[in-house]
Amino acid sequence: MSTAPRIEAAKRDWGHDETGCTILHIDMDAFFASLEIARHPEFRGKPVIVGTGNRAVVSAASYEARKYGINSAMPAARAHQLCPNGIFLPVDHHYYSAVSHEIFHTVFREVTDRIEQVSVDECYMDVSGALLAWHSPTRIAQWLRAQVAERFGITCSVGIAGNKLVAKMASTNAKPNGMLLIPLDKHAQFVQLMPLRGIPGLGPAQEKRLNAWGINSVSQLARCSVEELIQATGSKAAATHLWEASHGIDPCTLTLHAPEKSIGQERTFDTDCNDLATASTLIKQCCDKVASILRAKGLMARTLTVKLRFPDLAYSTKQMQLEQPTDAASTLYPHAIDLLLRMMGMPADCRGTEVKLTRPIRLAGISTSTLTKREETVIQPTLDELLEENERVAPMPQASSSIPSPANGTRSTRLRCAEEAVDQIRRKFGQDSAHLGA
Ligand SMILES: [Mg+2]
Repeated sequence: MSTAPRIEAAKRDWGHDETGCTILHIDMDAFFASLEIARHPEFRGKPVIVGTGNRAVVSAASYEARKYGINSAMPAARAHQLCPNGIFLPVDHHYYSAVSHEIFHTVFREVTDRIEQVSVDECYMDVSGALLAWHSPTRIAQWLRAQVAERFGITCSVGIAGNKLVAKMASTNAKPNGMLLIPLDKHAQFVQLMPLRGIPGLGPAQEKRLNAWGINSVSQLARCSVEELIQATGSKAAATHLWEASHGIDPCTLTLHAPEKSIGQERTFDTDCNDLATASTLIKQCCDKVASILRAKGLMARTLTVKLRFPDLAYSTKQMQLEQPTDAASTLYPHAIDLLLRMMGMPADCRGTEVKLTRPIRLAGISTSTLTKREETVIQPTLDELLEENERVAPMPQASSSIPSPANGTRSTRLRCAEEAVDQIRRKFGQDSAHLGA
């Protein structure tokens, strides 16, 4: 929960020139409190405080609670005094990080994998490479905000600028539930509206030190030379950083994470699942999701793992190597069901709506690994595909390329094209707008 100062005058239209503004800072609004409200709609519009107990501190407070002067890191007992009728809830880190993971992997990473995750609810995104497909940073920000709101019932704020510093200051001032684009030629003007503490990382000790030199705002800071700031701060590095920040300059680039080793999805059943049809439906949804993430990231997977969790919380997993790398749910799904049946000790031809599982399950999921980049993956047709091609009337070129063509491909490449079409529909109309059929 951010306590950075916001300036009303900063939350205005700064112009629409997006040239060079390829850094987004995305920050969930009152994340923990918003998630509690999302799963308890009856709390909407009420002061919700996450953090309870004698020795606890406040981890998050809804915007209604903040009106009572409640802030993060305040002792919960003090918050109780300020807002005796507030709704105080215990911290549920497991739930918050599970939703966070889902937001990052199913929304943010649909746009790009050039993401620096700063915390459970905050990240920087470099969209320069994504502009070819998405056209404008503002459009990306609008899509991200709409997806997070629609699918998770919470809001986020986005700052769009030419560097991390200004993007972060922009998202802070866009809050709550807002978006702020700061064109390159307005960077200096924008940051110079702020109080000293508006510069991320400038703490009370440094503020006091600068105050002692008669520097009380970012605009005063901007009028100092680096030499004067060295005198004020006693450090060349700090002085240079402050001088640059006061002019809206930030040379820092994103710190990106190592490439992913696996992509998976798992879901818990509302009540323990006893029948094959329900389990299959859930596994199909997981395959659909995983395949669409693989395609969005341009990855192919060679290894498939099915994971089950039972009512006693015991885990079981089973893994297989696929005949060829894939990013298609239509390929993953039948193999995932085979694995499920083997884990259950059930015959491979077991299908149908009435079939009971040998053991109830609480959670099911799949994950894919041995990932390679799609453009670097050569796909040899399988024996079945070669036979299928031979049976066709017209002579067909061999499907040895990794790029499928709907007109002349094998059954599996045609199915994959259908899934790509579903991706496009979802991108345009939302995740729930289209589903894979049987
Ligand atoms: Mg936040």
